[in-house]
Amino acid sequence: MVVVMSPDATPEQIEAVVSRVRTTGGEAFVSRGVQRTIIGLVGDVDHFRALNLRSLPGVADVIAISTPYKLVSLDHQPVRSTVVVGTGTGARPVMIGPDTFTLIAGPCAVESLEQTLEAAEMAKAAGATMLRGGAFKPRAAPRDFQGLGKVGLHILAEVREVTGLPVVTEVIDPGDVDLVTGYADMLQVGARNMQNTALLQAVGRAGKPVLLKRGIQATVDEWLMAAEYVAQRGNLDIVLCERGIRTFETATATTLDIAAVPVVQRLSHLPVIVDPSHSAGRRDLVLPLSRAAIAVGADGILVDVHPDPEAALCDGPQSLAGADVRELASTLRRLIPASGRRLG
Ligand code: PEP
Repeated sequence: MVVVMSPDATPEQIEAVVSRVRTTGGEAFVSRGVQRTIIGLVGDVDHFRALNLRSLPGVADVIAISTPYKLVSLDHQPVRSTVVVGTGTGARPVMIGPDTFTLIAGPCAVESLEQTLEAAEMAKAAGATMLRGGAFKPRAAPRDFQGLGKVGLHILAEVREVTGLPVVTEVIDPGDVDLVTGYADMLQVGARNMQNTALLQAVGRAGKPVLLKRGIQATVDEWLMAAEYVAQRGNLDIVLCERGIRTFETATATTLDIAAVPVVQRLSHLPVIVDPSHSAGRRDLVLPLSRAAIAVGADGILVDVHPDPEAALCDGPQSLAGADVRELASTLRRLIPASGRRLG
């Protein structure tokens, strides 16, 4: 952090800044120029922020040099992390990280045991090692199907028992975090809730890996700051998911920001996956966008599959079935080894 003093700052005002910084255990290096004096701060940025230095007399500006996300940054941990999902629930654990490409697939919403089991078997046949499925559905329209809630969580746990697939499911209310944690292997924070700080803190304390989707209007920095909220509660098992952002383009539901994958990988050690289903909102684009995810170096994809998309209660037009699932499977088996990873 750098404090820029105004041209007419007095020596006493400069000294006041220095001594306030020292109260935090930090160091202040004063550099006197012809026009202005600047003070370089070394130490805990969070402590410096709390000092509110900008309000001191003689201070013209305070410039943050380091990023506001520390724990999730590559500076903090220069080696890309691997997140293990599915320990302790009887599922087959899955590693999401730089050596693997993970296919997470399943129905957008859990509708019944039969539908979820059928979707899970389809997902597994395609190479999925994790099951997705929404029990609590955050829908744009209030009269649309909102999910089965606790019944949906029971179904997911039953399907995990049959298939061995660890389960990721969304939690939308901080008050439900304990409930969902009791069933899920990974807690999903959806795009709509990416900046719900109470929810981020609650999932950070839950002791389960977190799948953090990018908000449709969030910058990469805001997304990483959201991840930092989770990390600050002692949970670094976070996987980021790029799921499209809102632009002027209307051909797709949102615009998949594929560049966000390498951008994030230059800033953070956290794994990053892509959701081609929710970003496009169109079944015909799921395969091309999945290929893009592999090519760009993502650590996996999150794909909606449904045994009968025409009858789906949620997001049928983007859900894969039948031949589309088989094509996804053969594409992944062909392309993933070429990317130097293994499907897993
Ligand atoms: C979902 O994955 O079920 C979902 C609702 O996605 P998003 O939060 O990205 O809209």
